[in-house]
Amino acid sequence: MIPYGRQDITQADIDAVVGVLQSDFLTQGPQVPLFEKTVAEHVGARHALAVNSATSALHIACLALGLGPNDWLWTTPITFVASANCGLYCGAQVDFVDIDPRTYNLCPQALERKLITAQAAGRLPKVVVAVHLCGQPCDMAAIHALGQRFGFKIIEDASHAIGGKYKGEFIGSGHFSDITVFSFHPVKIITTAEGGMALTNNPELANKMALLRSHGITRDTAQMTHTPDGPWYYQQVDLGFNYRMTELQAALGVSQMARLDEYVARRHELAARYDALLADLPVVRPWQHPDSYSGLHLYVIRLQLGQIGKTHRQVFDSLRERGIGVNLHYIPVHTQPYYQQMGFKAGDFPEAEHYYAEAISLPMFQTMSEAQQDQVIAALSGTLKL
Ligand SMILES: *Cc1c(COP(=O)(O)O)cnc(C)c1O
Repeated sequence: MIPYGRQDITQADIDAVVGVLQSDFLTQGPQVPLFEKTVAEHVGARHALAVNSATSALHIACLALGLGPNDWLWTTPITFVASANCGLYCGAQVDFVDIDPRTYNLCPQALERKLITAQAAGRLPKVVVAVHLCGQPCDMAAIHALGQRFGFKIIEDASHAIGGKYKGEFIGSGHFSDITVFSFHPVKIITTAEGGMALTNNPELANKMALLRSHGITRDTAQMTHTPDGPWYYQQVDLGFNYRMTELQAALGVSQMARLDEYVARRHELAARYDALLADLPVVRPWQHPDSYSGLHLYVIRLQLGQIGKTHRQVFDSLRERGIGVNLHYIPVHTQPYYQQMGFKAGDFPEAEHYYAEAISLPMFQTMSEAQQDQVIAALSGTLKL
């Protein structure tokens, strides 16, 4: 089976991790700060906090922005559940904004309409999570302008998008948001096994997230309520968690970062090849906004079902039977039972549901060969033409 995504682990990666195993520190040593510095410098952010997952990063990002009970967090329904769940962790309520039918990202016009209604009802969101689906950045300039006008904070869930650019700048540089989050799960662009990172240019947010990642504990005397009792002393000044990344993970991350740009470039080659090879099939290929250079975590096609004598499900099953590990990103979050319990129902976000009825993620990973890609195309042509 050709998987839809797959990590690339080199001998240099293995050596880096083994080096840590043989060193003094398995956690809380020099590799985590080195990884943070490496990513922050690469993308052009002032501060970076490595954590044990993007889910943890989203949680501490929301808390740092002051999200709490009686607040609202809005995001897109076409995302992994973590982009919405982070609001619920903080006791806030979650709502969704429908997607743009071309980019499949949160639609700024739909956001504006919903904000106007929410303002009248006194229910404006405190935080909007903009998810860069497949690695393509959202229309951040528009979302940022709405943030200024309606007073909400912005988190970029860039779990798919490290190495991508928006208006010529790396995603994570933070010009249009408060905090950006990356994921290093093995299916993503670079990996630390599990892992995530929160980036910001705001030192207060960085400091707050640093506390929250490790129990709310500080060893910095400037942050203590009185002078330390002795050299052993630390103070808990907030209620935090243990969301720390290990040294093994960070060393793997540093080693992977050396290949980030190469990985994204390779994904672009594969995408260009897919674009050409799919041109005559009844599918909609991913549309790329001219402002964006996608990280290309995913390559999603939409079936033109009117021209295909099969259902979406039949095409999906047939591809799997032919050894193609296709997937579907994502089941609209508002249709999940946990969210339906809160009152969301099918029909609430029609563009998202329409997308879900047609989308299929084709295999896309940096080590994918052209022969493998040809196999995907052959399987898809066979399935669609029968
Ligand atoms: C993978 C993913 C997450 C969660 O990442 P973890 O590192 O697995 O916690 C969050 N949001 C999106 C959009 C993702 O794809």
